[in-house]
Amino acid sequence: MRVYGYGGKVVKVNLSSGRVAVEDTPRDFVDAVGGKMFAARFFHEHVRPEDPFDPDNVLMLAAGPACGTRLPMASKLGLYFISPLTNLFGESYMGGNIMAEMKWAGVDAIIVTGRSDRPVYIYIHDYDVEIRDAGDLWGLTTSEAERRIKEEVGYADASVAVIGPAGEKLVRFANVSHNSTGEGRESKAGRLGAGAVMGSKRLKAIAVKASGRGVEVYDEDGLARLARRVVGKISEDPIGTGAKNYRTYGTPGTLFAGLAKGFFSSHYFGRCGSPYAESLNPEVLRERFYKRSVACYNCPLSCGKITVVEEGPYKGTRVKGPEYETIFAFGGLNDIADYAAIAKINRVCDELGVDTIEMGNVAALTLYAVEKGRLKLEGFRFGDPESVLRLVEMAATRDGIGDKLAEGVARFAREAGLEDIAVHVKGLSPPGYDPRVLNTMALEYCVSDRGADHLRMTAYAYEILGKLEGLKGPEDVVAFLVDVEDRNIVADSMILCRFSRFIYGWGEVVEALRCITGVERGVEDLRKAANEARTRIRLLNIARGLKPEVDDDLPPRFYNEAVEFQGKTYRLERGEVRRMVREYYRLRGWDGRGYPREGLGRPA
Ligand code: SF4
Repeated sequence: MRVYGYGGKVVKVNLSSGRVAVEDTPRDFVDAVGGKMFAARFFHEHVRPEDPFDPDNVLMLAAGPACGTRLPMASKLGLYFISPLTNLFGESYMGGNIMAEMKWAGVDAIIVTGRSDRPVYIYIHDYDVEIRDAGDLWGLTTSEAERRIKEEVGYADASVAVIGPAGEKLVRFANVSHNSTGEGRESKAGRLGAGAVMGSKRLKAIAVKASGRGVEVYDEDGLARLARRVVGKISEDPIGTGAKNYRTYGTPGTLFAGLAKGFFSSHYFGRCGSPYAESLNPEVLRERFYKRSVACYNCPLSCGKITVVEEGPYKGTRVKGPEYETIFAFGGLNDIADYAAIAKINRVCDELGVDTIEMGNVAALTLYAVEKGRLKLEGFRFGDPESVLRLVEMAATRDGIGDKLAEGVARFAREAGLEDIAVHVKGLSPPGYDPRVLNTMALEYCVSDRGADHLRMTAYAYEILGKLEGLKGPEDVVAFLVDVEDRNIVADSMILCRFSRFIYGWGEVVEALRCITGVERGVEDLRKAANEARTRIRLLNIARGLKPEVDDDLPPRFYNEAVEFQGKTYRLERGEVRRMVREYYRLRGWDGRGYPREGLGRPA
């Protein structure tokens, strides 16, 4: 049977033996709609490393049927692995153009196992796969390594996913960088330490080059019509799509709400809002620093912004960003009230290859502990860019105390006796949506399979935009968010950018799958598949030691420390949070303690 919408091959590379296999894409991949739903099944059934740095950990890079087609915003590649930060299922998504390049090369997924005895990179040119020596690249920053790889393979437009020195040194929150050379379309698989998994395999990079372009789809005309409808939705910017905001300011547009409503917290969660709101206003970024907009493959939204610092001590800094989360991590948690300094810290993180959210959290915990007299470290203080830059460099190179910071907030806090003040869930530090202000984020942080994560449901977006108003009570809110999460799981399989959440409803998702693959899948069928994937990840995580009754919870500071913002006190009631969590379990078909019952389904 002809299979539309897929590349047709899966590349398997075992770095221990040097064996390479190019195999037909398995039926399971197509049935699962690719990406996340395939990875959930694959990892649940096959991946059992004792430690994330063991050679038998798997690094899977998977695209989905929509990638590389004309469908707008199908612009993400999924990276799946066991996370060195949480020791649980890891998933992280990067934009740019690598997902399209892979599909055009005929490759749906790259599955890497084993550990090389020397630094290497993988080069895929259509179905030719080589393991190449990376001895000269080891130790290079992301931009320099990517530049050299493009020269070596002889294609300036090859797509490269690369790690920096932090990944090589097994910094547990090392990222994977793509298009790092600063020309635009730069993207990261930021969270959960995929870069450290690559480092543990002595894999510096994966480069992909396709000879042709395009993916054969079932109904080209239907897809063209749908694409026009989607572009129309984006240009009209109907209330709440956020398209205009994203296009003008990029993700920092969220700062308007974050600073006004107070969910942008600062001083390592000691405050909600920021005393530096004026300096952090996104208009400052737009007027003084933005040079141009950039987009991932086939995305009319162009949320990427190239920032250039033209004066002052950080003159010459150029970065794609800083994104909202990076501004929160450094401008909020570390009280850095200067966009030039934040851009510089962002650039250093990018070059060394670390996730800015976890890095900002671990730096802020350090400064908070110093301020409280719980840690002795001379010359480091909140609000000082040089303090933070030194912490970034030390963590990314495991120098001095950086060796401990490189372990991430949870492990560092455990070793330094700081657990009572550390803020994380399941080992992952939070992004910029304080759950004391945005209560639905309490649910998301508790139950997300990634830990304190904002992107499985994106509850913050619905709460900020008032889309939960009118629902009758917490049970209805949870049901609404479970449905959103199901749709996001399908989107993470196709794979659509998360910022398309208000553009692709279930109707568009079903129609896109029909046009691309020729297979008609109804909403209930897709929701069932999403629930199954969610439950598989849950079972995998429980097998890896997750204890839902303990781990599906927030750090004590969120319950014990109320915050004042604009004359109002924000306090999180644990009973209310547990009520939402229990309802979530029920809707997923899990028992009252968060363990899946028999089977993978949800209650009738
Ligand atoms: S919205 Fe932004 S991140 Fe998403 S695909 Fe478009 S440019 Fe990339």
